Parts: sequence; structure tokens; C-alpha cells
Amino acid sequence: MKAAVYKVGKGLVVEDVPIPRIEADQVLVKISHTGFCGSDHSMISSGGLADNTILGHETCGVVVETGMLAKGLPEGTRVIVRPTSCGDCPECQSGKPYFCQTKRRSIGIGDLPGAFAEYIVVYPEMLIRVPTEVDAQNAALAEAFAASLHAIACIPNQGCSALVVGGGPIGLALVRLLKILEFHPILLSEPVAEKREIGLAFGADHVMDPLSEDLNQKIFLSTEGRGCEAVFECSGIPVLIQSCMDAAARGGTVCVVSVIYSAAQITPFTLNFKEIWLTGSYSNTHAENIQCLDWMAGGKLDGKPLISDLISLEELPKVYEERIDTGLAVKVMVDMDL
Ligand SMILES: [Zn+2]
Ligand SMILES: [Zn+2]
Repeated sequence: MKAAVYKVGKGLVVEDVPIPRIEADQVLVKISHTGFCGSDHSMISSGGLADNTILGHETCGVVVETGMLAKGLPEGTRVIVRPTSCGDCPECQSGKPYFCQTKRRSIGIGDLPGAFAEYIVVYPEMLIRVPTEVDAQNAALAEAFAASLHAIACIPNQGCSALVVGGGPIGLALVRLLKILEFHPILLSEPVAEKREIGLAFGADHVMDPLSEDLNQKIFLSTEGRGCEAVFECSGIPVLIQSCMDAAARGGTVCVVSVIYSAAQITPFTLNFKEIWLTGSYSNTHAENIQCLDWMAGGKLDGKPLISDLISLEELPKVYEERIDTGLAVKVMVDMDL
């Protein structure tokens, strides 16, 4: 089968690899669509990725073979794939299965090869059935929307004013979900005009270009001088954490959704002065994915405007160099039938 394989010193290379064989407790999934995640980019650009890694975890496919002991979804079922959790440890028991460290299995970023390939091997408990009303592109986007839904679940303030800083896929998905969850007003700060357009189409009440507009003044005017009660950092730019704190209302929450590895300077006085809650979000849950699929099935949520590049697997190495690594693409999605 064809797979996009990471090679140390070369980057992504599409090559022929053997079709994986399932054990008795495993399932073979034929991949239909796989989205390229910001974390995939972070892992490649970090240089720390192991030779021959196959990335890809935002995926939709069809069960084509089940092992004798693999109970669950029958062959022919359309599915998305999520990491496992044990259900018994303190983290699982407290409703945070994404912190589970016991027997955790995951594709693309964990122990199992990922979905930039024609087939993957998974365990049945990793699978979520895709409702018939949901097309494969939306299904493959469910994971990205679930990550944004999880960020909203991480904050105590609900239905309030909200600011999203950074209009990449996660920031734009957040705008859409904040709209569904009736936050108001919803503000988006993003320097790229095309991304601001998607933000408006997704339900943002105000979009701002931070490079040419006075952000603080616009936030002040949009919130009757109070600032935003919920602020989401989605740009990945360390210095903007303080900007988020500056934009927050008294008693507001700042949630760092983007993954920032470098040090970021903040002025802690801002926390005192406004009693801001500063937090972050990590991963998401089966339930959050199912919620996003349900909204997609019900016609409330269509993520496809996020897809800027619908490509074949062969095109991925080139598109990575030209569109992903340069920040030009919004969401790149591989269609295995192209
Ligand atoms: Zn992801
Ligand atoms: Zn656990």
C-alpha cells in the first residue's frame, strides 16, 4: 500500500509499504480521508520525529477486516479513530480519559502507525461510528472540532462574550462552535483576510486584523468596555498570551489552546488586577467527537469551508513544503481516492 512516511533528513516521502496485518483483537480500516493537523506540523518541524513514522490521526475510513476476538463495529462501518483509555485509573474515573497513561493506544502520534496510508490497524475501542448523514470530509474534521469543543469545556464562563486570537483551523472551528453554543459577541483576531472571511461565515460578530487595527479599542467598543469573558489563544505566538490577558474582562478566562513549547513572558499583575483564570486545553474525548458528529449529522455544523487544500496522498510532501510549512494552507486534507 502507499503511505506518506517521515524520513530523517528527507521529510515526508510517499512510498510502498506492506499492508499491515491484524492480530485477533484488532481491526483493519481502509482510509478514506485524513486531515493534516497542526501537531503533525509541529512534530515534523521539531526534528525529533523517529525515522519511518507514519503520521495522521484526523481520519475517516471503513472497517474492512475484524479479528476473531475484535468485538464492536462490523465490516463496512464508516468510522473515525480515537486514542484508547483504560476507564479505571484516577484520570479516567475523573472524566479526563485523555490523561490516561494506562495501556494508551493511539495512531499517528502514539504507538500505532497513522492514517496518511491506505490502511491502518486499530483496536475496536478506538472506533466511533460515523452517522450516515455525515460526509467523509466532515467526519475527518470531527477530531479538530472536538479539540475546539474541549477548549470551551475547559473554561467556566459559558454563553458570554468571547475572543479567539488566531484563525487557523482550531481557532476557526472554535468560532463556529462558540456560535452554536450561543456565546455573544464572538470576536476573531487574525491577520490573513481569507481566514477572517471564514470566521465571518462561521458566525463571528466582529473580525479584526491585528496588524492594522487597534485591537483593544475594538474589543472595548464591542463589549461595552468590559473586555471578553472568554479568550482563546490559538495563534501559537508566545507574546500573545499577555495580549489575551489584556483583552480579558474582570473574572474572565484565558485558555491557551495552541501548543507553545517556548517560554512566554506575562505580567502577573494582570491576573491580580482582573482575577483572570489562566488555563490551557489538551486533547479531547470520545464524547466531544460524538457531539461534533451529531451536529454535523443534524446540519448544524459543516466544517468543509476549513479545507483549503483537498489533495492526493502523492501530493502531500510537496504541499507540506509549499503550503503547510509556509503557513499558507488552512486545512490540508488527503483524499485517498484522488
Ligand atoms: Zn490533531
Ligand atoms: Zn485510564
